[in-house]
Amino acid sequence: MGVNNLSFFETVLSFFDKAAACTSHPQGLIDQIKYCNSIYEFKFPVKRQDGTIEILQAFRVEHSHHKLPVKGGIRYSEMVNQDEVKALAALMTYKCAIVDVPFGGAKGGIRFEPKNYTEEQIEHITRRYTAELVKKNFIGPGVDVPAPDYGTGPREMAWILDTYRALHPDQIDADGCVTGKPIAQGGIHGRTEATGRGVYFAGRRATCYEEDMKKLGLTRGLEGKKVVVQGLGNVGYYAAKFFREAGAVIVALIEWDGAIYNPKGLDVDAVQKHRRETNSILNFPDAKNFVKNTDGLEYECDILIPAALERQITAQNAPNIKAKIILEAANGPTTADAEKILVDKGVMIVPDAYANAGGVTVSYFEWLKNLSHVRFGRLSKRFEEGSHKRLLGVVERLTGKSLTDEEKKIIIRGADEIDFVNSGLEETMYNAYDDMRETMMKSPRILDLRTAAFVNAINKIAVSYMQMGIWP
Ligand code: NAD
Repeated sequence: MGVNNLSFFETVLSFFDKAAACTSHPQGLIDQIKYCNSIYEFKFPVKRQDGTIEILQAFRVEHSHHKLPVKGGIRYSEMVNQDEVKALAALMTYKCAIVDVPFGGAKGGIRFEPKNYTEEQIEHITRRYTAELVKKNFIGPGVDVPAPDYGTGPREMAWILDTYRALHPDQIDADGCVTGKPIAQGGIHGRTEATGRGVYFAGRRATCYEEDMKKLGLTRGLEGKKVVVQGLGNVGYYAAKFFREAGAVIVALIEWDGAIYNPKGLDVDAVQKHRRETNSILNFPDAKNFVKNTDGLEYECDILIPAALERQITAQNAPNIKAKIILEAANGPTTADAEKILVDKGVMIVPDAYANAGGVTVSYFEWLKNLSHVRFGRLSKRFEEGSHKRLLGVVERLTGKSLTDEEKKIIIRGADEIDFVNSGLEETMYNAYDDMRETMMKSPRILDLRTAAFVNAINKIAVSYMQMGIWP
């Protein structure tokens, strides 16, 4: 089959195969890493508002048990199907390995359009889905830990936790059965914006190397870079916001019902407000509407951030894409045939399995917090502040100079949970980027960041299997 006809999962497999060919592991080990370990597909009934019963199709796929628990979001969309969930679960395995988060990969989904259901129905569906996962041991802090994805958020995660707890009343670590929860239910500060912030760190790292930017005809850094963002949901909104705060110019925004542009820049928060008030980003006073929303992807820019859904950049639009860097915030936004066209054109693709790993990284921090039963910073903040105060006192005494109260406040402040989360995320995203880049630069056979990311992931997972003693 040619790359043009590949399904989402086959696309992930093709990226995997390309990278596996650059490693020297035995074929059996490569196959073990490649395919899904467990696939659970099930159906359950839900009552419609008119009293009739509808049967919903649901999935949980655990791609790799080389580390436990496995981890991955839950998607609510009428497009959900087994191939998609398998692809997303596989990407989770590689993502966790790329950013050194010690989980295997998984993904779940329910095939329905939440917009057509009441909140009460969505709660019922979420709780029923969780109970089905419990029955088959497909959820639990040590086995499988879901998180939000397209169409779900903290509200759904709270329902999942509550259902799990009700079925495991004596489990002390129950809070760790799901991440992305509201703070009051054991969530962590910074999780909501984590994926978008991670995309921003990825963009900052990718643009910091002078020689890489020179090859693309760009200057270093994000300041002044023209950026187009597709999808103004959780990931896209925060990515756009952080890029803008760093001095990038958001020249176009694309949503499912249309796209807008302004070469001088769009205020992302103002667009969100306009969207809340009018139910659309179209007709934003400070912008022009594109004729077709797909025109946005082809708009003149330096960085294109697809942050909506998979398979948006295809062989049809790839030749017209003007961006020099594609930062894959969504999972699987680029098809295999589009990737070839773009790489041949010299476009730098920062791959999804790395670029959107901020969410799982902070989910990992949340899980650690749940298992340790203590908020990050609780034990250290006041102690740190005392030390800073004493140090400052000595400096002031020795220099004879005194700082203003405002300056003292900044220096003395001890780290809160959000400070630990954001610095841990920054460290993770920078290290993983540098590892990927180093792998690419070391091997003349590896010509793109995606292949480098997959090679790193395969090598790390292979080590886990070797430690189990199955392969020598
Ligand atoms: P979301 O539901 O919050 O937002 C998605 C947005 O995309 C919505 O505003 C929707 O209207 C828009 N959209 C849908 N179809 C579109 C189209 N054809 N063109 C333009 N816009 C369209 O979802 P999210 O959580 O932001 O997830 C977005 C992507 O990021 C998905 O691929 C998801 O798998 C990936 N991702 C999410 C997380 C996370 O923490 N939420 C983590 C990693 C990866």
